[in-house]
Amino acid sequence: MRGLLALTALFVAVLGKETFLDVWMGVTDVASPVDIRVPFYNLQSVKIYLESQNIEFSIMIEDLQMLLDEEQEKMELAARFVEPRDTDSFDYNNYHTLSEIYSFQDMLVDENPSLVSKMVIGQSYEGRPLNVLKFSTGGSSRPAIWIDTGIHSREWWVTQASGTWFAKKIVTDYGRDPALTAILDKMDIYLEIVTNPDGFSYTHTRNRMWRKTRKPNPGSSCVGVDPNRNWDAGFGGPGASGSSCSETYRGPKAHSESEVKSIVDFVKSHGNIKAFISIHAYSQMLLYPYGYTRTPVRDQAELNSLAKKAITDLASLYGTRYRYGSIINTIYQASGSTIDWTYNQGIKYSYTFELRDTGRYGFILPANQIVPTAQATFPDEMMANVILKVPSLLYHHPHHPHHHRRHYHHTS
Ligand SMILES: [Zn+2]
Repeated sequence: MRGLLALTALFVAVLGKETFLDVWMGVTDVASPVDIRVPFYNLQSVKIYLESQNIEFSIMIEDLQMLLDEEQEKMELAARFVEPRDTDSFDYNNYHTLSEIYSFQDMLVDENPSLVSKMVIGQSYEGRPLNVLKFSTGGSSRPAIWIDTGIHSREWWVTQASGTWFAKKIVTDYGRDPALTAILDKMDIYLEIVTNPDGFSYTHTRNRMWRKTRKPNPGSSCVGVDPNRNWDAGFGGPGASGSSCSETYRGPKAHSESEVKSIVDFVKSHGNIKAFISIHAYSQMLLYPYGYTRTPVRDQAELNSLAKKAITDLASLYGTRYRYGSIINTIYQASGSTIDWTYNQGIKYSYTFELRDTGRYGFILPANQIVPTAQATFPDEMMANVILKVPSLLYHHPHHPHHHRRHYHHTS
């Protein structure tokens, strides 16, 4: 608690305004560290302040620019090779630009016309299509699973690395993997890989650390809204900012961002979505609603036991540790977040994954960490299982209410 108060004081008293520092990982509990990116010219004053308040600190990344330069170099090197002609030759070991991901989606549809189709559920503020891949083996109005990645644009690792790979994995495994095949024989899967394309494009061209949308805010020089604070669930309450310059700015009103509104309209018109999974990075957590209130959700016991099972399995399989629980009790109070809204719409299995890592690299997971040494496949076995199990572990077969499958899910 002392840490929290001191940090608040740091923001307000020493640095004057809340936008001065970039909080990567905010206050969760007294036992967990807070990760903050400090501009070089503020480094000394921040260090002096922390020391004067007896707040322990350590350097997580000495020189962020160096990591960014390495990342850039690797992308440029990869771009010199011939463009992939099909999804088999697509380089899953590397980060990709927006146009590369768009063409990946089109290739996947062309190659698998009976399984994959592309829907455009709306347009971003800057006019980019909001593409959603639909995986379906037929039927109409089937129950469905929704998965989105990259609503926070700087979370590259999950945006494309997991999203494109997961899409490919679905078409490869259908007919081979019994669990996935069983799901797709009864349900549809919707996957939005680049949920915030304007922000994503901006991370490539201007600012790798961009998180928000790119819509200008009237009367302010600061651009964009946090699309994970813009949903009509506790909108405007504590855990989101009313300041347009903040990284967690909620926006002028709920669903003001077309990237959010398009999903809202889609979910409502579909009417039969059973599971909603929103994927973020980083911190390794599996979270369920609520974020805006301490009142537990009606299904808390079930959501918690499913999360516990998933995390226990992950730990026993890979030795990776995830924390789990409701957003407000596990990470921090956050109002207007995606899965609070979807839960209130009646989608019981609403979860958020915070994927790797735990802070060693934060948002800049280097490519040499994506493919672990001596392992040829991307991302790695653990990621494969985490992501692939999302749908299979979530689905409750309606005819076997006592035979519960395991469930998974995620924020930031
Ligand atoms: Zn996030």
